[in-house]
Amino acid sequence: MAALKKNAEAYPREIGDLEKQLAAARAAVDAERTKHDELDKQRSTLEQTIAEDKDKVRKWEARLTEQRSTREYSALAREIDIAKKQQTTMAEEVVELGKQITLQRELVRQKEADFQLRTKDLVDRVEVLKGRLAEVEAQVKTVEGTRTAASKGVDGDLLRRYDSIRRKRLPALVPVISPGTCTGCRMNLRPQMYNTLVASKSVDACPSCSRMIYAAEVLDSN
Ligand SMILES: [Zn+2]
Repeated sequence: MAALKKNAEAYPREIGDLEKQLAAARAAVDAERTKHDELDKQRSTLEQTIAEDKDKVRKWEARLTEQRSTREYSALAREIDIAKKQQTTMAEEVVELGKQITLQRELVRQKEADFQLRTKDLVDRVEVLKGRLAEVEAQVKTVEGTRTAASKGVDGDLLRRYDSIRRKRLPALVPVISPGTCTGCRMNLRPQMYNTLVASKSVDACPSCSRMIYAAEVLDSN
């Protein structure tokens, strides 16, 4: 049961990691789309400014014919000239922005396509992990049932000792293998202790890790 749970521990984390990757990919697409929208807004603002400027120039041109003095006439004509040059510059900027917007739109399209691909892949992987997690949970349930059934035949004191160790370290019950190595902590028992463990066919506590220990060869010979 401990091994099953340990295996399953990684799954929620892996699922979480994949979901984070998915969110990051989504955010990357959104960032490019925001850039596109900002460029688009910039162009609209510029186009609006050009339209307003054209109105202004039209009014100035109408006033131009009403000018009595040459000085006022040429001053206004100069203003009109400057405004028209500015309009040309702005119109060039609009064209340039249009090019950038086209490129950016293509970038968004590519990123979106990448994202769709990645999403499919990640969602598939998350589904696989969720399936495995459900499998392990079912296995744990089965093992828990077996454990409950098996514990009915175990001495009460022994079971309490086992459970108290189990809360601190897993596995709680480990075999000792010849020539006396505790498989829980890899420490060697004194030869006398190991011999007693074999002869008594019983359980004891490992002096090093406190796990319940039994001699593997006792089970092997039975
Ligand atoms: Zn030990």
